[in-house]
Amino acid sequence: MINGDVTSIFGENVFNIPTMKARLPKDIYRSLIKTISDGERLDISVAEVVANAMKDWAIEKGCTHYTHWFQPMTGLTAEKHDSFIQPTEDKTVIMEFSGKELVMGEPDASSFPSGGLRATFEARGYTAWDPTSFAFIKDHSLYIPTSFVSYTGEVLDKKTPLLRSEKAIDRAARRVLELFGKEPKRVISYVGPEQEYFLVDKKMRNKRKDLLLTGRTLFGAKPAKGQEMDDHYFGQIKERVGAFMKEVDEELWKLGVLAKTKHNEVAPAQHEIAPIFSTTNISNDHNQLTMEVLKKVADHHGLYCLLHEKPYEGINGSGKHNNWSIGTSDGELLLKPGKKPEHNVQFLLFLAAVIKAVDDYSDVLRVTVATAGNDHRLGAHEAPPAIISIYLGDHLTAVVDQLKAGKGVKYEEGVLIETGVEALPDIERDTTDRNRTSPFAFTGNRFEFRAPGSRQSIGGINIVINTIVAETLCEFADQLEGSINIHKDSLELAIKTFKEHERIIFNGNGYSEEWVKEAEKRGLPNLMTTPEALPYFKTKKSIELFAKQEVFTPIEVETRCEIMMEDYNNTLHFEMLTMLEMAKQEILPACLKYTKFVTDDIASKKAIGLDAPKELEKAKRLTALTEELMERIDELDAAASAVPSEDAFETGMYYKDTVIPAMKALRVTADTLETIVGKDYWPFPTYTDLLYLI
Ligand code: ADP
Ligand code: MG
Repeated sequence: MINGDVTSIFGENVFNIPTMKARLPKDIYRSLIKTISDGERLDISVAEVVANAMKDWAIEKGCTHYTHWFQPMTGLTAEKHDSFIQPTEDKTVIMEFSGKELVMGEPDASSFPSGGLRATFEARGYTAWDPTSFAFIKDHSLYIPTSFVSYTGEVLDKKTPLLRSEKAIDRAARRVLELFGKEPKRVISYVGPEQEYFLVDKKMRNKRKDLLLTGRTLFGAKPAKGQEMDDHYFGQIKERVGAFMKEVDEELWKLGVLAKTKHNEVAPAQHEIAPIFSTTNISNDHNQLTMEVLKKVADHHGLYCLLHEKPYEGINGSGKHNNWSIGTSDGELLLKPGKKPEHNVQFLLFLAAVIKAVDDYSDVLRVTVATAGNDHRLGAHEAPPAIISIYLGDHLTAVVDQLKAGKGVKYEEGVLIETGVEALPDIERDTTDRNRTSPFAFTGNRFEFRAPGSRQSIGGINIVINTIVAETLCEFADQLEGSINIHKDSLELAIKTFKEHERIIFNGNGYSEEWVKEAEKRGLPNLMTTPEALPYFKTKKSIELFAKQEVFTPIEVETRCEIMMEDYNNTLHFEMLTMLEMAKQEILPACLKYTKFVTDDIASKKAIGLDAPKELEKAKRLTALTEELMERIDELDAAASAVPSEDAFETGMYYKDTVIPAMKALRVTADTLETIVGKDYWPFPTYTDLLYLI
């Protein structure tokens, strides 16, 4: 970009609406737009023409390949590239891309996690074009966003169920809106994900096996200066970081991502990027792209981007704030209070639906943020606790309390004239003092789910939010259909719901000990770790929910849960082995070498009659700690050799109860040694090097 005009580059690498319009015949363009906006099936003859236009456009922009871009359950994206070449009879090639190639691909699915689906079903899978998310160009390939399913139709990815959950919320919300006399074409869920990350010098990172292999530091003593000064949040951006951020923005804009906000975060070397919100499906694709671009561009600047939830112990970790809302295709935001009492009744009903959904399914929602990395964050006084609750803010809470107390609702001849909630529009302005310790906070026209981890795909999270809210809206519609006074009945239902679910509302300090006790009294689940939380994804209630809303079949719930458990176990497995390797091959030899340096020094002093009592003390302490280090290594070795492998959930509990404590103990000893061993002897960069030398 030569000047500051973003409009000149925005979306230049996207096969977006203006490009479609310019390159497709009118009738083809129209039917493609219909598919995009109304979800109508696309004819293969239309796909044929679209494929050809896409290919010509991509070739003009330097592409030689295309790829079906999909989102397997690893939480990452996957791609296999095929060139456009097609041999001819005279032994030359032409460039071709058929409608069939656009619509369907057949990657070998056997190496992607399937949670046992593979044993039961055909190993192969296929990818299917998602026309609702635009194709784009990256690194000389045409990227086609796709769903990924097995040959028997079971989903193997995060996109397909997300699309299904969008349908579920659309169906359910329209049923409720119809009762209010509204018939929008569609109800859409929106997400704006705020993404936190750390930057580290690439050369430093490459010297640390833990960062290289696991994305987080498994050792490291607390630096002299941590985040106590609060001088980094919104602080001045360093020049090198600024150059990186500029390139990230430009790359994202070219890809049509609405990158909007960037700033320094609380911890040193921690930053955030946030786009303007879009539909959940697009937002999910764009967040995946954002994570890729952050990694790629960091490399250009000699940096490495850490997306791990907890790269450094004792320093805030990184999350992803999932701002979620629903709105109609006519532009009405359903979680935004209106100006008239009857508009507010509809708002209160939707608000009640979210409150009930989160309370009824708080365990399932908790599971969506259960990962090995996020276990370090939740409840560690830097991110929300593992207890799910909702923050409504003082203003809205006052309104809800008033309604619960039966005040302020007036009807005349059956017509609602006043709800006592006329002040609701002010709520939008009442968001500045919002509570950062709440996992699920109402922020004026949306809910901000603050528990997700930085590295997570937002797919899994929003599948669940959409599904549980859809379920509650269906229950509401069941109860209200046939009502002859919809405003009165809706308001009564909303008030009843507020009363029944008041335990989930908490406006206080979510980081406090008192809240943990209070939540227990209220009967709210506190699922501290991933192995404890995951089984709640496959309860009878959860299986029925997903089946009813047509988001997951029972077997898909089972397998998804299994995959999440395996992911936790694999993460712990690699962390455990990396820790042992670093301790045995790097830390222990460093300690022995340094101890020898000290004892040699003592011996040479003794030889000339000098006494060195303090140095002797140090040598003794070093020896004792080094012995302790070896003991801790043996203990972790022993734990590692007894990991059960029959059942993934049993393995998970073993990692939590036996391996993690042994890892923590080893770390404590090694970190203590780091503080007394000479810096020149320590085998890898320290926290100060990693956090401040950028
Ligand atoms: P803060 O850091 O104060 O939470 P930001 O402006 O950094 O706020 O991020 C807020 C995010 O919420 C942005 O991505 C924004 O586009 C998104 N957002 C705003 N309104 C909505 C809405 N109605 N639905 C979903 N996301 C929204
Ligand atoms: Mg922000």
